[in-house]
Amino acid sequence: MEVLLLGTGAADGWPNPWCTCRSCAWARRDPARARTHTSALLDGTLLLDCGPDVPRQADRAGVGLAGVQAVLLTHGHWDHADPAAVLTRAWAGRRPPLAVHGPASALARLTEWRAPHATDGSDGLTLVPLGPDDEVEVVGYRVRALGAAHTAGSAPEKVGAEAVLYDITAPDGARLLYATDTGPLPAATLDAVSGRAYDLVLLDETFGTITDHGTGHLDLATFPHALAELRRRGALTPATEVIAVHLGHHNPPGPELERILAAWGARAVPDLASVQVRTGPDPVPAAAARHHRPQRELVLGGARSGKSHYAEQRLAAVPDVTYVATSGARPDDREWAARIARHRARRPASWHTAETSDLAPVLAQAPAGSAVLVDCLTLWLTAVLDETQAWDGPDGNDVVERRIAELVAALATTAAQVVLVSNEVGSGVVPAYASGRLFQDRLGELNTRIAAVCDEVTLVVAGRPVRLGG
Ligand SMILES: [Zn+2]
Ligand SMILES: [Zn+2]
Repeated sequence: MEVLLLGTGAADGWPNPWCTCRSCAWARRDPARARTHTSALLDGTLLLDCGPDVPRQADRAGVGLAGVQAVLLTHGHWDHADPAAVLTRAWAGRRPPLAVHGPASALARLTEWRAPHATDGSDGLTLVPLGPDDEVEVVGYRVRALGAAHTAGSAPEKVGAEAVLYDITAPDGARLLYATDTGPLPAATLDAVSGRAYDLVLLDETFGTITDHGTGHLDLATFPHALAELRRRGALTPATEVIAVHLGHHNPPGPELERILAAWGARAVPDLASVQVRTGPDPVPAAAARHHRPQRELVLGGARSGKSHYAEQRLAAVPDVTYVATSGARPDDREWAARIARHRARRPASWHTAETSDLAPVLAQAPAGSAVLVDCLTLWLTAVLDETQAWDGPDGNDVVERRIAELVAALATTAAQVVLVSNEVGSGVVPAYASGRLFQDRLGELNTRIAAVCDEVTLVVAGRPVRLGG
């Protein structure tokens, strides 16, 4: 199956023509970066969604729409179902059959602009209402409609009832999940896609860094969790190609967005990109090869630099994550407890938490395909120095050295994906007390030795990640 992405943008496109934010300014610098209404054309035959930008995009791609035999509409929002397409088709004198499938409210929009003489069917147009769980054969493609978390009507009872996603199997067997526009996928939809092992998933990621939008869309916080849910159910495999669509200007500029998506095994493609979807067992999955995901990553930063948030984001699309809190319990410290509770609330409920300073066994036992987040090495080192009473003299040095060597060895040989968080210290004045100097020196050494076995080292400053050393 060939999938031509006619558009990959949100309703207002990206750039939003009225906006001067840094993402819009970045996009405006090169016309090729412009993103128009999300739509895909399968094998030149089956069109998914038809917003106002779509007909012109089809011409820019050099194919036009004359070969389209059927259209699937996800819902009736104007950026997905533009009635003018029906009118301009009539002006072209087209008569061959064209079946448009979609929720009744989306189809109703098209009839407004249907040529008056053509309602008898002489324009070849057939409108076929479709709702969640309906299955139809459309010009050789097997199509199943799934419920979206998106509302096309304003009445509360219509929430989710009139917007659908599409599970499509092409004549050649390739499987596609077309999932725009939607918020976190409804339980019934997740059940319906279990075990589907899609070859390609096009998934909504409208709102970028805005997470309190309260709309039926995904953002950079909920998008990776949707991927984790799909992976947990076998709807995604390591060979699945995942492309973020319906992208709006609340996303960071392209290169930053690319790096965030790559960590989740997803990517963005420009408008008019063509994706050849291959199916069947593939010894070197193209998608996996393209997304180089570091297996071991050290994330450094100062206090409140955003390092923990960055580290959590890196693993947000992994279905099986163990979060290792190295701090231990501090029953008497209320400020500390509140801080821990805040961090815990931010993490997905599906993550397991382990409170321990015994890191080496955790890393050794974590299976391939799972991930471990260690937050943080600074508190781990504090715990080790406490346990060995190495603060006051050289007596504990050998034990500290052994614990560090064990950790480095476990990290170098673990089967899991690991992200470790640590503090970057030592840039300020030399501490006045011997214990402070000891800790600063030990932590600097520890960070250096951990970094030496990591595939990637990132310094987070003011919330911005800086990759160190290539
Ligand atoms: Zn939309
Ligand atoms: Zn919409």
